[in-house]
Amino acid sequence: MADSSHPESLIDLIEDLRKLPGVGRKTATRYAYWLVSQDQTYLTTLGKKIHAIKKAVKICRICGNKTEQEVCGICQNAERNIGQLCIVEQAEDILQFEKTGVYQGKYHVLGGVVDPLKKVSLQELNIDTLPDRIVSEEVTEIILALNPTIQGDATNSALQEYFRDQDLTVTKLGRGISMGSTLEYVDTTTLQEALNSRR
Ligand SMILES: [Zn+2]
Repeated sequence: MADSSHPESLIDLIEDLRKLPGVGRKTATRYAYWLVSQDQTYLTTLGKKIHAIKKAVKICRICGNKTEQEVCGICQNAERNIGQLCIVEQAEDILQFEKTGVYQGKYHVLGGVVDPLKKVSLQELNIDTLPDRIVSEEVTEIILALNPTIQGDATNSALQEYFRDQDLTVTKLGRGISMGSTLEYVDTTTLQEALNSRR
């Protein structure tokens, strides 16, 4: 319900800000009032940046990572061709792994998860380039790095089935990441540990 004690245009902004992840009505209200008290130059610049972001940031045609080129920096880096492919749900997860500095292989972003309740199967996710990648990048190990949730588990099972008849080692992140948590909130040390203890 809109709160009539705010001016109409602020209510409008609050509603839009509420769509941001992790932002509820209270925080959205605080943001809107903060924004309206900033100087016009800042607001114009911010608005321009938001306007341009969608055109500037593309999806890597090989791995699904976010990039400003056709192919992302990780895919372009030949030194990372070490036969390991880490499968993640979203591009943001790559940042988490990169922060650990432990992982030297490449990534593949699914862009979603298998969800039996919403009838989302593996075929609807970004898997089309996987068979080619496995051959051309001489992949020997697949590391499943999905979030430890019901959907993450369903995705792991579907991927294990998908890779079953191939000559590949399929591993999963090990200890330390608790059920129901998501990788974006896991600290670097825990993620390092989970990578090192994969099985
Ligand atoms: Zn890439």
